[in-house]
Amino acid sequence: MIKRTLGQLATMIKVVNDVTKFQDIEIAGVSFDTRLINPGTLFVPLKGDANDGHKYVDTAFEKGAAAVLWQKDVPNPPEHAPVLIVEDTLSALQDLAHSYRKQTSAKVIAITGSNGKTTTKDIVASVFSENYKVHKTDGNFNNHIGLPLTILAMEETTEIAILEMGMSGKGEISLLTRIAQPDAAIITNIGEAHLQDLGSRDAIANAKLEIIEGLPKNGLLIYPGNEPLLVKKISNLKQFNTCTFGETSENDIYAVDITIGEDGSSFVVPGLSDEPFFLSIAGKHNIMNALAAILAAKEFLISPSSIQAGLKSVKLSNMRMEWHDGIKGTRILNDAYNASPTAMRAVISMVENMLEDRAKIVVLGDMLELGDKEVEFHEQIGEGLDPSKIKYVFTYGSLAKNIASGARLHFPEERIFEFEDKEKLINVLKEKIEGNELILFKASRGVKLEEVVNTMVIKN
Ligand code: ATP
Ligand code: MG
Repeated sequence: MIKRTLGQLATMIKVVNDVTKFQDIEIAGVSFDTRLINPGTLFVPLKGDANDGHKYVDTAFEKGAAAVLWQKDVPNPPEHAPVLIVEDTLSALQDLAHSYRKQTSAKVIAITGSNGKTTTKDIVASVFSENYKVHKTDGNFNNHIGLPLTILAMEETTEIAILEMGMSGKGEISLLTRIAQPDAAIITNIGEAHLQDLGSRDAIANAKLEIIEGLPKNGLLIYPGNEPLLVKKISNLKQFNTCTFGETSENDIYAVDITIGEDGSSFVVPGLSDEPFFLSIAGKHNIMNALAAILAAKEFLISPSSIQAGLKSVKLSNMRMEWHDGIKGTRILNDAYNASPTAMRAVISMVENMLEDRAKIVVLGDMLELGDKEVEFHEQIGEGLDPSKIKYVFTYGSLAKNIASGARLHFPEERIFEFEDKEKLINVLKEKIEGNELILFKASRGVKLEEVVNTMVIKN
């Protein structure tokens, strides 16, 4: 984590009061949450709509904060205490992160995209950890507050910092990439998430591409070669070192000889190694995420054997593709952390094509925040379900019932169940389970589908 004296901090951000008296005080680490304060922390009070962190400044000092920031327009800053007064505390937090990043010698790899950011970040981190001292975004800490805090939590000796960049609208990635000044950027894919805010996939692609605003000349830009929107826009960008990953041989890297299992997938990357790589997380979409990571690793001259070791030992953050033993010998795949049409299609196609000895049941909930075309997106998911591979379709919610309508076009009625009440869904699902099925649960986070999952899982 960042360690600096107040005198040094005053050279890194614009401080409007005189801190000479306190200039030798040292801070170690930064927090905006008094529950996370350790002795020595710099406390940064943020002004939210509902709450103002300045109220907690006294608590911060009681808990051992070495110093605090204070926003100029807030009255009564503490007297005779190490307080750095700034124009705006949030901007100061971001400026401090930017300045710290420039003072360290870490190479920064930034990851954005509609789906797969956290997963790709975890895969990149696992692969790069084989050769480098790595720091990465904790969980999903990927916004205008989480990203600066991630940078400030990095040790000065970090060699590679892997930063997830999330967005819900235009201009957000621009801010994050300007703070982080990445040496390499990965765009995982362009999906439909945030269509509501941005209006079109083209606008989403532009918003993700803002990532290049922080990239230096000759910086590495990795993107999916099967996304025409990106291919078109990026082919004009001669100032970067661009490379693509994808399913076919037109890409700089692609996978062949793919075998998909419950515990992961194996695949060969032509031109890199004849030995298959094994990725310890399942799903074809994760092979794409792994290809992006492999491309980055290759550019940083990480050997195929180190890549292999990294892919084998990937550990994912919570609630993404969790497997459980369920009632009556079922296997349960809980992927109900979030959902967009692309993500939902990806995981359904994975389930359709795995564990052939098990019948498949899908329990699909609403995909939220999709904008005007939300009904159509749900119907398309239903239309895309393969009746030869899926035995029962359960839907939960007022949007997801359109998945059922889509499925009715080619599924017999008795294999479709539509609910807006979790208890009823649970009862019918339990009734329909004969034993040994594979059951997929997928919905947006807000749907709380885990309340259904929990009733199906066997607790150890
Ligand atoms: P968030 O916006 O919530 O931070 P994220 O981009 O970090 O999401 P992950 O958490 O890595 O995404 O993955 C979320 C879900 O997206 C996964 O559970 C999976 O269903 C799906 N997914 C992951 N990678 C891909 C991909 N390359 N293509 C399509 N869907 C994907
Ligand atoms: Mg994420």
